[in-house]
Amino acid sequence: MTTAYITHDDCCLHNMGPEHPESPVRLQAIRKVLGRTGLLDELQQQTSVHILPDQIQLAHANLHQKRLELKLPESGVVYTDEDTALCPDSLHAASLAAGSGILAVNRVLAGHSKNAFCAVRPPGHHAEHNIPMGFCFYNNIAIAAIHALQQPGINRVAVVDFDVHHGNGTVDIFKDRPEVLVCSTFQHPFYPERYSEILRDNIINCPMDAHSGSLEFRNLVEGRWLPALQQHKPDMILISAGFDAHAEDPMADINLGEEDYRWVTQMLLDTARTYSDNRVISMLEGGYNPVSLAFSVQAHIEVLAGH
Ligand SMILES: [Zn+2]
Repeated sequence: MTTAYITHDDCCLHNMGPEHPESPVRLQAIRKVLGRTGLLDELQQQTSVHILPDQIQLAHANLHQKRLELKLPESGVVYTDEDTALCPDSLHAASLAAGSGILAVNRVLAGHSKNAFCAVRPPGHHAEHNIPMGFCFYNNIAIAAIHALQQPGINRVAVVDFDVHHGNGTVDIFKDRPEVLVCSTFQHPFYPERYSEILRDNIINCPMDAHSGSLEFRNLVEGRWLPALQQHKPDMILISAGFDAHAEDPMADINLGEEDYRWVTQMLLDTARTYSDNRVISMLEGGYNPVSLAFSVQAHIEVLAGH
């Protein structure tokens, strides 16, 4: 049994224009590197499935999907905020992205996969209960986490987020759900500046100064995430895996490298072995230099797969 690699070609149909950093090239670069290194052949390659409307409502307001559908253009793009746009295929891709998390949870809980990585877009962690935001329409990881909590034996989960941007959507959805621990590191002050100051026992916000790097990141993970995870004892760990804190990423100013992603992935697997019966699912969030993104995903999956 090995790691499931869940993706769908149609995730590349979501296209916000040639200048937009959240582009189909990201998934194409990942596939190219995983294929070239042979890693892809070692994984359980799974095709994403669509999410059901009532599963979107696990994390979002009843009208959230309908409001997006009403904005969907027949051609071109329509902006939902200054940097997030819908094209005709965007919600088709978003449905597959969110459905991948459901499939990942189901496979891991059924014992069909050791753990899972979802190579999907659009990403999700900025999407709040009621609003799309920051390249995100459906909060993929939050939907997966709530779906997991509905399954027998899953009473507490943790969502950990090492994307360089704060996962405001995930915090918004879980701020009053103590059964979900949310741990995140993020550049601060920086986009999106919405829930980075919130005080809740289940929200472990770890801001990082611009130009900080490996040492600061590892100190925060060991000093803040780990004790919280040990106390929470999650039945499953879900990773919002954004790779835009990489030193070569153009979007932000944190200096992580592939070795940091390898390290944090191993730390999370070790924690999951102790508390979560090894249950880990990971979903792609950001990462906007296609080269550093692809090599970072490779490092992350190599650890998930037990290299
Ligand atoms: Zn990001």
